Amino acid sequence: MYNVTMIAGDGIGPEISNAVAKIIDAAGVEINWDKVEAGAGAVEKYGTPLPEYVFESIRKNKVALKGPITTPVGSGFRSVNVAIRKELDLYANVRPLKIHAEKFANKANIDMVVFRENTEGLYVGIEHYVGDEAAESIKIITRKASRRIARSAFEYAIRENRKKVTAVHKANILKFSDGLFLEEARKVAAEYAESHPEIEFDDKIVDNMCMQMVQYPEEYDVLVTTNLYGDIISDLGAGLIGGLGLAPGMNLGDDIAVFEAVHGSAPDIAGQNKANPVALLFSAILMLRHLGETEAADRIEKAVSLVLNKGEVLTGDLGGTATTDEITEAIISAL
Ligand code: NAD
Repeated sequence: MYNVTMIAGDGIGPEISNAVAKIIDAAGVEINWDKVEAGAGAVEKYGTPLPEYVFESIRKNKVALKGPITTPVGSGFRSVNVAIRKELDLYANVRPLKIHAEKFANKANIDMVVFRENTEGLYVGIEHYVGDEAAESIKIITRKASRRIARSAFEYAIRENRKKVTAVHKANILKFSDGLFLEEARKVAAEYAESHPEIEFDDKIVDNMCMQMVQYPEEYDVLVTTNLYGDIISDLGAGLIGGLGLAPGMNLGDDIAVFEAVHGSAPDIAGQNKANPVALLFSAILMLRHLGETEAADRIEKAVSLVLNKGEVLTGDLGGTATTDEITEAIISAL
């Protein structure tokens, strides 16, 4: 029995979290879900979108599964998602881009993993107006965080037998901030070049990287980058493998891991039983592997692949008409 914090989130969050918990249960993994609330719903109850008990639960359990949480655009509270990552120092946002069903992918041979720095960059939320006519946002890049994310990418490459690490940046224009990130990534690469010469290292300017990902995805393996570029290229990557409904992720610190899909709360389909639970399910599969439940993780992954490749029970984002409940039942049957 594992104790895992569950933040169902809002929008489609509760529907897909429910679905995922059902599938894990059907696979025979016993999890005691510690359900906590964050986001707009929590404001009414606790007076804050991110009550302290959420952190207490995650710190205690060390592992959390998290649904998406809406961030008001323009005004209102700042992102709860970003606050969780910062407060718990979950410095690596890791987003595997892998094809599970070829018919949904734009190209064959996509197998990349994005390592997105998760605690700084433009997400520090330091902004102000300059008079009435301008606004300024501050982007912070530190050597420490740059080194740490570059090291995580290399360690992962070693562990998973990956062949290449690519640092993604805009150091031609942002010479100080992105320049510093690239400098640190190159230093880390030089360290690993001695002990692991089999891992190739290169770097790409982010705009070119986007084009490369679309045209020659087979040439890329592990991508390591700053916060905003990581966010953007992982959505781009999600588009390549079949959309946000299939793209998982995890936020890793030194001893805490929070698993969540790449996608947001999808307010356009929330509460309609239309959401695809697979992206969160793939995130939960990463969680099961993290917990050492490899056999169950493999079994669920196989069941999802079966359902996706059969193509009879698919949600709207994948061109089908099935409901969240129907695809959940189909995956459970395939188990
Ligand atoms: P989104 O990812 O919620 O939705 C983009 C599009 O993809 C929508 O058309 C949506 O219907 C579709 N989509 C997303 N997930 C889907 C799924 N599982 N099944 C089927 N279709 C799916 O992006 P957005 O609309 O830009 O953001 C909505 C809200 O989510 C915003 O408040 C944003 O701040 C928040 N957000 C939260 C997180 C997070 O919790 N980590 C991440 C991204 C965005």
